[in-house]
This record gives sequence, C-alpha cells and structure tokens, in this order.
Amino acid sequence: MEDELRLLVFRDALTGAFNRRFFFERAEVELARFGRSKNNLCFAIFDIDFFKKINDTYGHGVGDSVLKKFSHFCLDGLRETDTFARYGGEEFVLIMPDTDSSQAMIVLERLCDGWKTEHFSHQGESFNSTVSVGVVQVNDVKPIEHWLDLADQALYRAKLQGRDRIIIAN
Ligand code: GH3
Ligand code: MG
Ligand code: MG
Repeated sequence: MEDELRLLVFRDALTGAFNRRFFFERAEVELARFGRSKNNLCFAIFDIDFFKKINDTYGHGVGDSVLKKFSHFCLDGLRETDTFARYGGEEFVLIMPDTDSSQAMIVLERLCDGWKTEHFSHQGESFNSTVSVGVVQVNDVKPIEHWLDLADQALYRAKLQGRDRIIIAN
C-alpha cells in the first residue's frame, strides 16, 4: 500500500519515470550537497527527436509506447543513485550525482547509441528514434533553474547541429 502510494505520488503514470515534482526535490538535495562538499554533479535534459512526426505517422498510441520504452531503456541503463524523470511531453531530465561531465558523456553516449538501435514496428513498417541531449556540470552555488537553463541551451544547440547528439553546456 505504501509502495503504491509512493508510486502514484512520485512517478509519471505513463512512463514510470519519476515526475517533475520528485525531480525538483532531488535536485534541491543534490545542489545542497554540492554547496557543502563540492562533489561532482551533472544535470542532463533529453528531448526525443522529431517526436511529433512519430505521432503524426503512426498515431498517438505508438507515440506513447515510444515514450514508455525510452523511459524503461534509460532506467535500465542508469545507476540507482541517478534520478531519471519525465520533465514533460517528450522531454526527460537526469540528475547524475558524483559524476563529472566527461563521465556523464560516457553514460549519455551509451544511452543514446543504444536507444537508436531499438526498433519499433507498426503495421509492417519499422522505425527507430533518436534523442538529443544537453548536459551541464554544476560548478557554482546557483539554483536549479540556472542549471536547467544552461542544459536547455546546450540541448537547443544539439537540435540546431542536426539532432541525435549530446552537447555539454559551456
Ligand atoms: P524536435 O526534434 O525539434 O524535438 O521535434 P519534435 O517533433 O520532437 O518536437 P515538438 O515539440 O514539435 O513535438 C513534441 C510532440 O510531443 C508534440 C506533442 O503532441 C507530443 N506529446 C507530448 N506529450 C505526449 C504524450 O504524452 N504522448 C504522445 N504520444 N505525444 C506527446
Ligand atoms: Mg520537446
Ligand atoms: Mg522533441
């Protein structure tokens, strides 16, 4: 019962990822820990590429199943201490404690490379999906909005440069 309640309160119903609310709570905890001990800490934002096209071509139900599979794929490939959450729509966020930007790149590259080899089939047609990522390493005592802003700017550059890539915020 308690487990079920926790599931409802902290998880996104469609994808099983943590929800925004839980993400912000965890982010505060990790930023406070950074403030005390200057441990490594990274945030990443994922945005599935051309997701609208998946919905338009195969239907919203297939779009939903892509979101679900993406979430499970990431949850399976991450550490227990990482927090993976649905930020909204086809956007996800990740908190990586005790991880610097070069370690984060290794993890994110593995995820993105793995994700694009997953295949979906719908009425005899096969397709795959790619994702763009912006990542930032915390190096100062600033609120979460600051880091999300930087990660989002990096994500925007990843989209501009052709998608299917990971950019580190400068
Ligand atoms: P880009 O490569 O630039 O990210 O393009 P995009 O098509 O992925 O981005 P855009 O923001 O244009 O479209 C996102 C779409 O995601 C639009 C919205 O209808 C869809 N969407 C948001 N939430 C859900 C959901 O829960 N299920 C499904 N199936 N679609 C969703
Ligand atoms: Mg988007
Ligand atoms: Mg998108």
